[in-house]
Amino acid sequence: MPDVIVIGSLNMDLVVKTARMPVGGETLLGEAFSTIPGGKGANQALAIAKMGGRVAIIGRVGRENFGESLRHNLEAGGVDVTQLKSDASAPTGVALIVVEAAGENRIIVVSGANFALTPADIFEIEPFLIQARMLVVQFEVPMNVVAAAVRLAHQHGILTIVNAAPAHSIAPELFPLIDYLVVNENEAGLLSEIKVTDIESGRQAARRLVARGARHVILTLGAQGALVRTAAEEFHVPGFSVHAVDTTAAGDAFIGGLVVSLLETLGCFQDKVRFANAAGAIAATRFGAQSSLPYRVEVEALLANPS
Ligand code: ADP
Repeated sequence: MPDVIVIGSLNMDLVVKTARMPVGGETLLGEAFSTIPGGKGANQALAIAKMGGRVAIIGRVGRENFGESLRHNLEAGGVDVTQLKSDASAPTGVALIVVEAAGENRIIVVSGANFALTPADIFEIEPFLIQARMLVVQFEVPMNVVAAAVRLAHQHGILTIVNAAPAHSIAPELFPLIDYLVVNENEAGLLSEIKVTDIESGRQAARRLVARGARHVILTLGAQGALVRTAAEEFHVPGFSVHAVDTTAAGDAFIGGLVVSLLETLGCFQDKVRFANAAGAIAATRFGAQSSLPYRVEVEALLANPS
């Protein structure tokens, strides 16, 4: 049986590389095109599996090739896909990603089957869920599904890890049910109503989120690592110095690293966040989403030899 249940999205990333963005009405010849499995739920499940965790995914894909390919990719990576549903009417989620040579990525997600997931799907898997130790959710599925999953897990004493990505508000009554709330600067800003631009403003935002009831708040700070806040303590764990080429899925690799290290009894909390930072840093050195997720030996190698 899996230790971790990830409830979330699966998308096929359709990635185009171009020298520059076309202007309105213009057609350009792009440089390269690739289809890369992605979606935050799928990325995090695969990250956990690649680092040695026993994990299952709950989600929905369409019945066409993209859905089948996402399913096979996760299965080949060691994720339990027995509870992954194929939706008869909705298409598999896709993310159109345009990578400009000198610029930021532009992404449009069309959720498709991910938004056909319902609270009833969650209640249906209750017997499966309650045997796990941890639940991991993100916000690329409907919020009523997130809420149902977090409530159910909390009720059964299963640790809840909520990655509030993409940024979306959280119902006040849900905060006290969150054991680990993981946010980046943008998400922390939206949830706390404090603009996060540096470690100091990050501290204030994290404090406010703990005051709302989240037990641990983990704020990821890109190359600067992560900040942790609980009711009792606060600490910053610096990031690793790496040559970053594409930070897609760095946050997902971070969650995977955090989950895998939390499953283990050894090590202090700082060490667990350091492990997560190493996983995120490695993902930042590689192109794409699932293609960039590290194996455990790679994380351990970076931890042992950080420079
Ligand atoms: P997101 O990708 O969700 O916005 P971050 O950019 O904060 O999240 O990245 C998540 C984690 O990945 C960071 O906390 C850090 O551990 C690692 N990371 C991301 N970018 C870099 C980088 N340029 N150098 C080193 N580590 C990075």
